[in-house]
Amino acid sequence: MARYTDAVCKLCRRQGIKLFLKGDRCHTEKCAVTRRPYPPGQHGQARKKHSEYAVRLREKQKVRNVYGVLEKQFRDYYFEAARRSGRTGEEMLGLLERRFDNVVYRLGFTFTRPEARQLIVHNHFRINGKKMNIPSYIVKPGDKIQLGTASQTIKEIVAALAKADARPQFSWLELNKEAFSGTLKSLPVREELRELEASEQLPHVREQLIVEYYSR
Ligand code: SF4
Repeated sequence: MARYTDAVCKLCRRQGIKLFLKGDRCHTEKCAVTRRPYPPGQHGQARKKHSEYAVRLREKQKVRNVYGVLEKQFRDYYFEAARRSGRTGEEMLGLLERRFDNVVYRLGFTFTRPEARQLIVHNHFRINGKKMNIPSYIVKPGDKIQLGTASQTIKEIVAALAKADARPQFSWLELNKEAFSGTLKSLPVREELRELEASEQLPHVREQLIVEYYSR
């Protein structure tokens, strides 16, 4: 499985905003965007004028980086969203939000999506009682996610669950900490994500620019 392996803080610095890719560290003074608020590289501090194309490209890259999806798969989400009857940008975000690794992360089992992905690949979770080790699996409303009994003492998971209540909460997700399980109750709601973006708990996303990028 191909994945991004360079320093993730560079992705935030390139975008100029916090993408919250490193769990707790993102909320401290150690955050690279706080310490070095300019793009990485030798010419990072040079003034640049961005073309319309560059703005759209950057927005696409930003969302791709947030969800940790590679280019081809991200494009597939766009085309799948465009095939659907709703607004393409919102449909695409809805699909990304329902990725299994994202749901595990949002529920609070892990501090980051890469951690969630690793646990999933290593067979620590079940969906509706069946083993599921595909991070890109699209979780459906009503699906129940259960952490395996033998995995319930993993200290990283216990630490993440202990802080789950302090993380952004989503009406479509329900966590049962005592049972080490969670449920996707309904489809994600874009308006709710917008509110969290406005309060700077999530990176601000302009999905219309991504639609324009792919439909150029
Ligand atoms: Fe690094 Fe998190 Fe700050 Fe991004 S928000 S630069 S991932 S510490």
